[in-house]
Amino acid sequence: MTDLAQFAATHGIRHFLFSFCDLFGVQRAKLVPSSAVAELAENGAGFAGFAAWLAMTPADPDVLALPDTVSLTVLPWQRKVAWVATDLQVEGVVLEQSPRRVLQRQIERAAARGLELRSGVEAEFFLMDPDADGIADRRDHQSKPCYDQLALMRHYPLIAELLEAMEQLGWRPYQADHEDANGQFEINWTYADALTTADRHAFFRVMAAALAEKHGARISFEPKPIAELTGNGAHLHCSLWDGTGRNLFHDPSGALGLSQLAYHFLGGLLAHAPALCAITNPVPGSYKRLGRSITSSGATWSPAWISYGSNNRTHMVRIPDSQRLELRLADGAANPYLLQAAVLAAGLDGIERQLDPGPRSDANTYTDPPSAEMARCLPASLAESQAAFRQDTVLRKALGESFCQAYEALVPLRPES
Ligand SMILES: [Mg+2]
Repeated sequence: MTDLAQFAATHGIRHFLFSFCDLFGVQRAKLVPSSAVAELAENGAGFAGFAAWLAMTPADPDVLALPDTVSLTVLPWQRKVAWVATDLQVEGVVLEQSPRRVLQRQIERAAARGLELRSGVEAEFFLMDPDADGIADRRDHQSKPCYDQLALMRHYPLIAELLEAMEQLGWRPYQADHEDANGQFEINWTYADALTTADRHAFFRVMAAALAEKHGARISFEPKPIAELTGNGAHLHCSLWDGTGRNLFHDPSGALGLSQLAYHFLGGLLAHAPALCAITNPVPGSYKRLGRSITSSGATWSPAWISYGSNNRTHMVRIPDSQRLELRLADGAANPYLLQAAVLAAGLDGIERQLDPGPRSDANTYTDPPSAEMARCLPASLAESQAAFRQDTVLRKALGESFCQAYEALVPLRPES
């Protein structure tokens, strides 16, 4: 653990953001002056749990947030402030419904089997006009706007600042582009272990929002901000590794270069897909993205079926190469921690039960929908995925009943989009 007072003295840090991500994915924080950080790092910063989305009551004792310094991140745009993810406790007991804790538990379950999830996430976003409806750049109106160089470069000051910030932070960003919807962008950084990626995903959402504001735009990660345009995905690239740095998903003798272990993990994703959606696609608007409607660019780039294919973006899971699986299900409303926790829980069940994902489809499912024997439909609404989640006893047991009940208790309070 890094000594935060020492870190402040060495790096000129005046304040620390003791932060956590609540069940709706909202970043909550307290600003702690360096002069008090030693004491608060020891005893925790206090929060009233009911005041965040943690499924607690106003009568509950304080939630204490204890920093996990592996996540320590100096804000690239405000270098006197450092952000740190915290782990939550109440009266000395771990708060089991805390999303970061839910992910840590799945990581521990995997580690007990000698497995480590490594992941990368593609956090697509829109840049909106902060004062009006619609996107920030009104000149961005091509019907096929993906990779539009001029529209990308009109946002160069913001995109470049984000890329440089990620480089400073050691995330190894490697590309940024205009995505398939007008006003939509994506920046890719290098994969890492699941907790690091989740912390970065959570931090990216606040960093991108803060820098967009600075550059006169409003960011939106909503699943479907504009009805006729492609929505915001949060595609997750996954592989399992052993303790010696070997990718256990890779096997040159397997189909498409993937191992039996990878196919069992995939079998788990497919088997639990309807319930997974309650986590990966958590708001009513999520199902506008997953629907089978056409967008003005000609494709939604999101799945409608529980299916997998090779390097084919119309399926729920794509096998882009011989190293990993890409889950294309999740959207921008997914909680960065719960997303990976649920995926890992589903995949581990597939491994434990040696589930067979069935035959691969290489069809374009947008024009050639699979038959009922080949693939099930994804849930058509949040109510459907929640019903599947209630019935998925395996996933519930893996994620922990205290988390499941807390998550479900909040559903009626969830904002629409
Ligand atoms: Mg994309």
